[in-house]
Amino acid sequence: MRKNRKPPKFLADHMNGEIAKWLRILGFDCLYPEINLNDREIVEICEKEDRILLTRDRELHSLALKKGLKSVLIKSNNLIDKFREIYSTINLNDYLEYITPRCTLCNTPLKLTDPKDIAQETNPPLYEDIKKRYKRVYYCENCGKLYWEGTHWSNISKTITKIKRLGKSTKNSENIA
Ligand SMILES: [Zn+2]
Repeated sequence: MRKNRKPPKFLADHMNGEIAKWLRILGFDCLYPEINLNDREIVEICEKEDRILLTRDRELHSLALKKGLKSVLIKSNNLIDKFREIYSTINLNDYLEYITPRCTLCNTPLKLTDPKDIAQETNPPLYEDIKKRYKRVYYCENCGKLYWEGTHWSNISKTITKIKRLGKSTKNSENIA
């Protein structure tokens, strides 16, 4: 594996918010346009920003391919199966060690820090309890969203483990259709 390979960037269309959220947790730059863009506009953004399209829309998928863009047609409904579809064209594991989690709300890379060192307002607010219990928290400098290893963290890491496992069976990670 080459060192410091540039991680791929993604654009998840409006039906793929769940994928966008999990790609961001893993650390990938994934646009999830809030306004409804038309197919032409989506393809233009992917072209301009070198993003891999993730869509459930066959027409949009073939339009992207015709333009020479990378696109993954998402067919499954289950999160892990959706990621299996992504892994079948690109092995995300090749990049995971170079990237850090991003904000699920705004796609900004998160800062890992001692909660006592955070000066800005956060969402939710930095309760004393969090400052006492956690030496390290993630927060977003852009929108203030705060993340800590709370009770649902074990579910998150279980899901991440399941996603990463998909990478082991991928033979040809560069074969993006
Ligand atoms: Zn944010």
